[in-house]
Amino acid sequence: MIVARTLGELRSWRDAVDSEARVGFVPTMGALHKGHTSLIERSRATCDATAVSIYVNPTQFDNADDLASYPDTLQDDLARLEALSVDCVFVPAYQDLYPDDFAYRIEERQFSSTLCGAHRPGHFTGVLTVVMKLLNLVQPDAAFFGEKDFQQLTLIRNMVDAFFMNVEIVGCPTIRESDGLAMSSRNLNLAPSDRRQAPIFHEILEKASSDDDARRQLGEAGFLVDYVETIEGRRLGAVTVGPTGQSVRLIDNTELEM
Ligand code: AMP
Repeated sequence: MIVARTLGELRSWRDAVDSEARVGFVPTMGALHKGHTSLIERSRATCDATAVSIYVNPTQFDNADDLASYPDTLQDDLARLEALSVDCVFVPAYQDLYPDDFAYRIEERQFSSTLCGAHRPGHFTGVLTVVMKLLNLVQPDAAFFGEKDFQQLTLIRNMVDAFFMNVEIVGCPTIRESDGLAMSSRNLNLAPSDRRQAPIFHEILEKASSDDDARRQLGEAGFLVDYVETIEGRRLGAVTVGPTGQSVRLIDNTELEM
């Protein structure tokens, strides 16, 4: 496995890949779990070579504490990726990805200011900008994203269409803990009592009779609700658990049975 820490190292790896090979790419922010693994396995199963990036992208964080507390498990992540037979891991630095210091950015002006975007100003501009940069650098044939971040997946699909980008965006199902909690790197920051409470979030999203009912039940269960909204048969939600200062934001979504 090549660990590329500079643009030059990444380009050397990419140039050496057979021109006929189908290249798959899985962008991540590290602290890898089985959700990430499922994306990588999908790429390994359908592509000839797989690249993964690990980069905690500062431009998508609207909250400095959230960025500072984002888990960092790089050595474990690299061991996990090696065991998964990933071909290349790209671990860039800010100066490499943002030589313009974020002067140029990709802004979506409709869907990105709703749902998570309404609560995290600028978040999706950071996401779309870094994904565009990573896709341009890695030049994959296919890129794999989780349905757990459904709004993100939709915005990336639409960006690729809007800019005529030559890459297939593959959405992959949400991987959950046995109690239903969607796997997330931020779960590492949950205090034990909040970890016990967290799975109720998904249960309520799935079972509530309406979005209003879900918001009410979540409030009663002690969550602070950012939003619950159903769009095209899918109920999406975001909540925080835990005391101010140590709270963890959870997002999830579920397809409703019609
Ligand atoms: P992150 O490292 O959180 O930025 O996530 C990297 C990729 O993994 C994104 O495409 C996420 O949607 C995806 N992902 C994160 N958690 C899960 C999960 N529980 N199941 C499936 N995909 C996930």
